[in-house]
Amino acid sequence: MVYLKAKVTCFHCKKQVEKAEARIFDAPLGGPSYECFNCFKKSRMILGEDNVKLDLYCERCNYRFKSKKAVCPYCNETDTLSKGNISVKDLL
Ligand SMILES: [Zn+2]
Ligand SMILES: [Zn+2]
Repeated sequence: MVYLKAKVTCFHCKKQVEKAEARIFDAPLGGPSYECFNCFKKSRMILGEDNVKLDLYCERCNYRFKSKKAVCPYCNETDTLSKGNISVKDLL
């Protein structure tokens, strides 16, 4: 008998990939699913976008900073912040 390399279907792109090159992960529908390396890279990139830092400006401290959390590192306030170059005063 000829031993064939196990192939699995990528959950995302439905391509047949070698099991050794696929990444296993738990699908929401239950049971193990496989993800090819390309889709794994793509999903990692999407995750990375979620971690993009916000451009924030605290009017109280007159301080511009970048942070994932919309909290001023100096005064710990959240309502004094505005995003980017737009200040609260400009909106009023
Ligand atoms: Zn794929
Ligand atoms: Zn502040």
